[in-house]
Amino acid sequence: MEIKKITVLGAGLMGHGIAQVAAQIGKYDVTMRDIEQRFIDNGINMIRTSLQKFVSKGQITETEMNETLARIHTTLDLKQAVSNADLIIEAVPENIELKKTTFREVDVYVPKHAIIASNTSSVSITELASATKRPEKVAGMHFFNPPQLMKLIEIIKGAKTSDETIQTIQEVAQKMEKETVLVKKDTPGFIVNRILIPALNEAVALLWEDIATKEDIDKAIKLGLNWPMGPLMLLDYIGADTTLAIAEVLQHELDEKFHPHPGLKQMVKANLLGRKTGKGFYDWTQK
Ligand code: NAD
Repeated sequence: MEIKKITVLGAGLMGHGIAQVAAQIGKYDVTMRDIEQRFIDNGINMIRTSLQKFVSKGQITETEMNETLARIHTTLDLKQAVSNADLIIEAVPENIELKKTTFREVDVYVPKHAIIASNTSSVSITELASATKRPEKVAGMHFFNPPQLMKLIEIIKGAKTSDETIQTIQEVAQKMEKETVLVKKDTPGFIVNRILIPALNEAVALLWEDIATKEDIDKAIKLGLNWPMGPLMLLDYIGADTTLAIAEVLQHELDEKFHPHPGLKQMVKANLLGRKTGKGFYDWTQK
């Protein structure tokens, strides 16, 4: 099936980036939906800032920037957002009830042929699919942060996802110039987060136990494992709330060994979520 129109639900950290990649690289007609105008404005501003960076580095022209922006439409109205779309990419907060409600509503308004994909990091694709009457047309499409720069998309097959749906999503990913891996079974954390989240959690434990400073923990992993940034800084990019939510799913769905460290829970309680709230393990207010 050929995808022409893509709707992204959520204009946050991931949603705005996915909308940008779809419009800029995939050249799709994109609609981005959020629940309040200020979130949409913020998303559009982030897209503009990102595009301007590409322009100043000489990677795209000013005309290409404006063409990309012209391909992105916004709305607060869910029905309007999805009723013409061929592919929906859901990027609302990592909350299972919110996502199920969203899938249930989208399923009512979206055309029969349309595919509904979730960018969830940890919610079961099969469970989201069961909130719709089209489980064969529901799959995971898991981008990485920031979607504008990260090459990978994990494609996740739910229990009833059809091969045709997977193939269509692979084609869309290819048009967006991404690399894909296929997660053949719908399992918590998929591939990357199943390995990453315990590592981030252990970095918090090391800091909490005062084994080393945050700078040294990050330096050790950066230089010792050749990561582009250390785990505590990465946690600030991902968001402590998102990290905690994924850890809890791994703990409850897979094994108690994935339980989140109290230090991580405290960061969330204190709203020290990272870059998005200005402070996490590091202070982002000056950067
Ligand atoms: P975020 O909080 O930055 O953005 C979520 C946005 O969704 C907000 O702007 C919010 O107002 C909006 N929203 C809430 N309800 C909505 C609704 N019903 N319809 C449309 N929009 C709605 O969160 P995020 O970091 O962008 O995460 C979004 C999803 O992407 C989550 O499932 C998360 O697990 C996943 N994800 C996050 C990362 C990451 O590094 N942060 C990486 C990969 C995947």
